[in-house]
Amino acid sequence: MKALTEFTPENKSKIEEAIAKAETYTSGEIRVHIEDKCKEDVLDRAAFIFDNLQMEQTKERNGVLFYLAFVDHQLAILGDGGINAKVPENFWEEIKDDLVSNFKKKQYTEGLIHGIEKAGHQLAKYFPHHGDDDVDELDNEVTFGDV
Ligand code: CA
Ligand code: CA
Repeated sequence: MKALTEFTPENKSKIEEAIAKAETYTSGEIRVHIEDKCKEDVLDRAAFIFDNLQMEQTKERNGVLFYLAFVDHQLAILGDGGINAKVPENFWEEIKDDLVSNFKKKQYTEGLIHGIEKAGHQLAKYFPHHGDDDVDELDNEVTFGDV
């Protein structure tokens, strides 16, 4: 898989650390899935992955998936229904634009880290962290491949 030339174990860990950090200020649960190619509509594909990772299993329905098809240059940020019900329609646009401009500079890992941080801060306004009661509802692991 070509994406693994960029997303080395070290970079994968850095992204997972960014997710863990973002989830200290929001109860929203962030995941990242990366593959090389996206053979269908990118939003359909992201929805399939979201399902496959069982990301709807959060109490507040506030899971967010960053989906990237590395070779095909396709990107989607997909939030669950609990988020869509609360946030403005263009909620992900700025983060997406930032990601695209970072990816154009080939800053894939840095771009994702930045986007995750920003998503955490934005989500915190609507879904603040629950302090000691907060649970890590979805694994922070970055997943790869054609599932
Ligand atoms: Ca949590
Ligand atoms: Ca998590």
